[in-house]
Amino acid sequence: MTIFIFVFGIAIGSFIDCLVYRLNKEKNFWKRFLKGRSYCPRCKHQLAWFENIPLCSFFLQKGKCRHCHSLISWRYPLVELFTGLIFVGVYKWWLIPNFNPSSDFYIFISLFCQKQTYLYLYIFLVLLAVFLSDLFYWTIPDQITFPAILIFFIWNIIQGQWLSILAGLAGVIFFLLLVFLTKGKGMGLGDVKLVGLMGLFLGFPRLIVALYLAFLTGAITGVILILIKKKRIDSRIPFGPFLALSAFVALFWGEKIWQFFL
Ligand SMILES: [Zn+2]
Repeated sequence: MTIFIFVFGIAIGSFIDCLVYRLNKEKNFWKRFLKGRSYCPRCKHQLAWFENIPLCSFFLQKGKCRHCHSLISWRYPLVELFTGLIFVGVYKWWLIPNFNPSSDFYIFISLFCQKQTYLYLYIFLVLLAVFLSDLFYWTIPDQITFPAILIFFIWNIIQGQWLSILAGLAGVIFFLLLVFLTKGKGMGLGDVKLVGLMGLFLGFPRLIVALYLAFLTGAITGVILILIKKKRIDSRIPFGPFLALSAFVALFWGEKIWQFFL
């Protein structure tokens, strides 16, 4: 079961990384997204199926394109491995403790039948895409956040979770104020939309936990980067990755962390 989940996670990581690349690099995104085959960014040679196997192809080809021998970025295997490990982590530290399954088969069937599984999976994909996009390209595309905002807004109305809608609204106002006060230097409108989305799917009090974690980890990373002289005190680092990572932690462990602090 662990191996199955790991392989599933690697495949998801590969898919989302490709999506993020195409969103930021391709002019005609929807056409490329639906029809385009992957190719080597340097020699433009289309990849055969065996050159497209997540994680494996990179190591079998020793990190080089088979045609022009240019080096393939470490980003791809790293993102795939990272996603695989996150899937295994959620399985070990969240699914098993919470569902206490009698067997792996039982957990698989019960997850498969629950609507919530798909919502959690979807929000995970969104957060991963935001994380990668803001980390590598310093933007959070509306194509990622807007559909998710719409889906969770409708979901909350159907479920009557007005507190979550209120949390989203409060997050948006708070971050708009931050953008206004820092004159857009600290944060962008992409962050504002992301926080609105976070409020919608996290609700209260998990949104507070997520924001607390994001500001804490962002500040610590900033100080570390200045200390190792990678950044100057007035230089910028994108805040989206911290928001996405904290939202992910709060999504699964938010209530536990909230109770711990109270
Ligand atoms: Zn090539």
